[in-house]
Amino acid sequence: MSTLFLSVVELEPRYVRLLDHCHEQPVIAKEDLAVLHQLRHLGLAHFQDENEFAIALQQIEEWRRHKCLSVILCLTFACNFRCVYCYEKSSVVSAASKQVMSPETALSTLGWMNKVMHARGIESARITFFGGEPLICYDVIRKVLERSASLFDSTHLEINMSTNGSLLTPERITTLYSRGLRRLQLTLDGPPEIHDRRRPMASGRGTFQRVLDNLIECLDHGMDIDLLTVCDDENIGMKRS
Ligand code: SF4
Repeated sequence: MSTLFLSVVELEPRYVRLLDHCHEQPVIAKEDLAVLHQLRHLGLAHFQDENEFAIALQQIEEWRRHKCLSVILCLTFACNFRCVYCYEKSSVVSAASKQVMSPETALSTLGWMNKVMHARGIESARITFFGGEPLICYDVIRKVLERSASLFDSTHLEINMSTNGSLLTPERITTLYSRGLRRLQLTLDGPPEIHDRRRPMASGRGTFQRVLDNLIECLDHGMDIDLLTVCDDENIGMKRS
């Protein structure tokens, strides 16, 4: 499935077998490479040029050697922000943008992770909640955290979230932290007048103060924050008025 274009392609059984086989191999096999070439041919894997393709292959080799299984759960494309540069809003049809991942799908991913980790002798896992705005699916997140606590050794499990920060509350932060969430990726695009113009709520209201308050609350709870600023031609030279 291409999450960018929301297209689904049914692969021939031989390709499915190759993909299954791919998960169990300690080193990348020729057939796996062929699958990647095929996905590229189908337009499901995009590379700007041969150089980028070669780099991607090299990275896959490195991931295979790395004994950590990292999974990103894209829970929904829906979002309560309307950032001016959001690449998801232009590529996602409105019906799809209301969809959310079901708890069954999210939990079955954990089961798959458990299986792959046992099959390949992988001890460490990383789960990242992503969107859209993942906290729209707060109940799914809670269920995933509960199940992952019973499936994985907490000392070998890292849980992160990439969020716009607006739907965090002190109560939610306490709950998420107590269930293993330790690292958030938040975005502030500059001082309030710049941030609010670039990252407003769907209603048009500014978001700077709410995000900042929640960011401080997270730090007080002991969470690590990766703070991002999106820079482009429009704001790179802006000065505070
Ligand atoms: S917070 Fe992220 S998903 Fe939401 S509108 Fe902004 S860039 Fe898009």
